[in-house]
Amino acid sequence: MKVHFWGTRGSLPAAASTLDLKRKVFGAIKSLAGRHLAGDDDVREFLEKELPFHLAGHYGTNTPCVEIRGGTEHVICDAGTGIRDLSRTLGVAPDGDPGERVFNIFLSHLHWDHIQGFPFFMPAYSEGSRIVVYGGHPDMKAALDYQRGYSNMPLPVKADLSFRRLEPGRQYEIAGFQVLVASQNHPGDSYGYRFEVEGGSVVYSTDSEHLEEGSADERRFIEFFRNADLVIIDAQYPLLDAFSVKENWGHSNNIVAVELGAKAGVRRLVLFHNEPTVDDHGLETFLNDTRRYLEIYDPGNPMQIDLAYDGMEIEI
Ligand SMILES: [Zn+2]
Ligand SMILES: [Zn+2]
Repeated sequence: MKVHFWGTRGSLPAAASTLDLKRKVFGAIKSLAGRHLAGDDDVREFLEKELPFHLAGHYGTNTPCVEIRGGTEHVICDAGTGIRDLSRTLGVAPDGDPGERVFNIFLSHLHWDHIQGFPFFMPAYSEGSRIVVYGGHPDMKAALDYQRGYSNMPLPVKADLSFRRLEPGRQYEIAGFQVLVASQNHPGDSYGYRFEVEGGSVVYSTDSEHLEEGSADERRFIEFFRNADLVIIDAQYPLLDAFSVKENWGHSNNIVAVELGAKAGVRRLVLFHNEPTVDDHGLETFLNDTRRYLEIYDPGNPMQIDLAYDGMEIEI
């Protein structure tokens, strides 16, 4: 299995400004501190191994879209703005073969940050494509029809577009994966998906506020995440925000994410739905704090923790 993150930002897109870029260049030059880099290889090594990510990279702009490879057809979680970048890679092969044209899109829910890229998903305008949209909401079709309405984005979909409602607690076989569905605590409900294929398991669980420790809700999610190779988890807020000003906003925090991951024996945890108002330096600090918390909470636990960024790719 391979997982590619096309969009990782929560709520709305958040691009880096010129000022942000200038700060990165300034920080990078300052980090050189009189050192001499002899050639391109030295420069590359410095960029990739020595500079912190907040100076050498960018956590990203796009709203949620994650591609899960390793099945028999395309599998995509959510249709945030990241799906536009994904669709740009779906061109015809040099030999003229249009490739696999069945696209299975699993929607966590219908909030705009999870569907706003759909009008820019190019296979929707190709007669040879088949798009199946999966989710737990009964009004998936109505939401996407409204999105293509005259006052929003009137474009004629030519693909064979269909919708399939999934029931939480049930397991399905879709595109070569066993897919288990879980209902999640979020305004208007949301759904998480666990994808399994021989030798690998990936959970996509965003826009999900977790309830208190010891609750039935916590036990349900520990089972849902149990021994997964990778869990992509909503960790939009730091703990203090999640339990004070942003309680009941439907998102989780990094502390609960670590505790659930550790209790479930997760191998790798990726914090997701990144807060759009926090800059790269702030997000990197958030990640480092989260890693430190695991060391305190469960010393010796080998779970790897990362923060998702647009373009991140994980092989399982
Ligand atoms: Zn969201
Ligand atoms: Zn939402």
